[in-house]
Amino acid sequence: MKKGVMRPGHIQLRVLDMEEALKHYRDLIGLIEVERDDQGRAYLKGWTEVDKFSVVLREADEPGMDFVSYKVLDNETLDKLHKDLIEYGCNVEEIPAGELNGCGRRIRFDSPTGHMFEIFAEKEQTGKWGLSKVNPEAWPRGLKGMKATRFDHCLLYGTNIAGTLDLFQNVLGFDLAEQVLDADGTRLAGFLTVSMKAHDVAFIEHPEPGKFHHASFFLNTWEDVLRAADLISMEDVSLDIGPTRHGLTHGKTIYFFDPSGNRSEVFCEGDYHYPDHEPVTWMAEDLGKAIFYHDRVLNERFLTVLT
Ligand code: FE
Repeated sequence: MKKGVMRPGHIQLRVLDMEEALKHYRDLIGLIEVERDDQGRAYLKGWTEVDKFSVVLREADEPGMDFVSYKVLDNETLDKLHKDLIEYGCNVEEIPAGELNGCGRRIRFDSPTGHMFEIFAEKEQTGKWGLSKVNPEAWPRGLKGMKATRFDHCLLYGTNIAGTLDLFQNVLGFDLAEQVLDADGTRLAGFLTVSMKAHDVAFIEHPEPGKFHHASFFLNTWEDVLRAADLISMEDVSLDIGPTRHGLTHGKTIYFFDPSGNRSEVFCEGDYHYPDHEPVTWMAEDLGKAIFYHDRVLNERFLTVLT
């Protein structure tokens, strides 16, 4: 049931070297660099995104994800969910407006999988990059690299995904769109959505809490995914796998690593979800095909290299 969470808002990633990271996220993936704040964090966005930013890079000693944040309908919804999260038993912290430039107050909370999440209601809207609000052209000139359109979702690995799925479904109103079950019905993976997308966030059961698998950016066409693969070769970027197709969500995809070891994905197409849809189920015995639909074999690196 919907609780007023609308969509992904932003993700903050840790990188070892900001200039190297910007070559990856700005020059290769093609995100727009928006600004730096007084902590030295870099703000970026995909060109179709109306909000001021969707990706924040923070220089740190270790790679990984600090938090991922979702936008809710309004301040009333934010207050209601703030209370609900405390009642549910999360450790909840209020981050004041302006801690991220242009973003209103955020409610930060932890999860059974050991990740930090946030919700917020207000962020400055600067509009689609390079396009006017009235009579916008098809696309802006001057895009770089893969020309990523938006931050789409992330995949997180951790302990007790059942607990985090319960939190996301019952407190935040996400739907379970796709899942992986083992032979005795234990859920090993859950793909959650608050929209028509096959996933706005996904979780895979893992013995270590709080791990980050990838941040994903949407491209418009399969041709764009192949062109992304060309750029990965041209720039001699570390490739994980692809171009290929997933069984889960049926997206067409390629995975590669940023200079700090964080995994990135760019993808196109994929399934859609309505709230009355039953979850799509893949069985663990077919996990190879579920993850890599063409190879039908798992790549060990995909399962074990996390930040
Ligand atoms: Fe993905």
